[in-house]
Amino acid sequence: MRIVFFSTQVYDRESFLALPRSPNTEFVFQQPKLTADTAVLAAGAEVVCAFINDDLSAPVLETLAAGGTKLIALRSAGYNHIDLEAAHTLKLEVVRVPAYSPHAIAEHTVALILALNRHLTRAYNRTREGDFSLRGLTGFDLVNKTVGVIGTGQIGTAFARIMAGFGCKILAYDPYPNPEVEALGVRYLELDELLAQSQIVSLHCPLSPATYHLINESALNRMQRGSMLINTSRGALVDTPTVIDALKSGHLGYLGLDVYEEEADLFFEDLSDFPLQDDVLARLLTFPNVIITAHQAFLTHEALDAIASTTLDNIVAWAEGRPQNLVKLET
Ligand code: NAD
Repeated sequence: MRIVFFSTQVYDRESFLALPRSPNTEFVFQQPKLTADTAVLAAGAEVVCAFINDDLSAPVLETLAAGGTKLIALRSAGYNHIDLEAAHTLKLEVVRVPAYSPHAIAEHTVALILALNRHLTRAYNRTREGDFSLRGLTGFDLVNKTVGVIGTGQIGTAFARIMAGFGCKILAYDPYPNPEVEALGVRYLELDELLAQSQIVSLHCPLSPATYHLINESALNRMQRGSMLINTSRGALVDTPTVIDALKSGHLGYLGLDVYEEEADLFFEDLSDFPLQDDVLARLLTFPNVIITAHQAFLTHEALDAIASTTLDNIVAWAEGRPQNLVKLET
């Protein structure tokens, strides 16, 4: 069985090559993203293994199906980037990794909060320049602050637990309240109430038509002046130009992003030798109270190992006719 991996970096290859596999399983690692142009690289491969910024739209899936692909194995939990209707029509099955390490993402979320609050990037740059002044570095105590968690699945729950440990008051919004989260003393509220009462708002829900631009102008207006917004979930949950306006007016006090609506052509690449073409991202990068990481929240050794082993298990189970972790078209 030939498996073609797209969007692979050194760490992906290492985690897959460390796993035992049967001699008739061939790994072909491609560095380029899966696009309409690169889809032909999978010709003859029964399985295509794709990551979050790969193009899995109908035309790309058609090329893959025509080349003999039968299974799309996603190395991600999120599956908003695949046209499930087209996959269904083309008889392509889709599997994913529902959970690898929710802690990796939750802990990165906390890293963004602490770095923004205590101005760590400014402090780091200053001390390296021999500037040991503290002007502009005042933070706030996290204890007794109110944190709003939007989406209390695996990652939101892990995040809520950590923030409860800081002594924060936790509010949550999720159409399906989680008893495990309620047991932490967390109160579920309507979204508008959560936005109005929180000093820190963190997004942990999936991207769907219902959550597209969940944080828009009216949501931002409901948030407290000077509050902090963190998005480690999916870029399009946030209407970025509106967030820029809120940062310019000072209404939004801090912004931490690990995901960006237009990240697909930027993240995971070293573009440092070229002028940045994305003016919205360029503007975001000018604010001292904004930290952007390039979709790295998942990047821990534990998460990479879990992604590789679950992906390979998914592929083997599918090949043996007992598919697991299938992504089904909701009708
Ligand atoms: P999960 O499925 O365990 O939880 C998602 C939760 O969101 C569920 O409880 C669901 O009920 C809730 N939800 C659905 N619609 C909602 C809405 N309209 N408003 C509020 N909540 C809603 O998923 P998870 O494993 O916790 O992952 C959450 C998201 O994190 C993923 O969808 C993915 O986009 C993102 N993610 C990011 C990274 C990264 O590296 N930055 C890595 C993995 C996952």
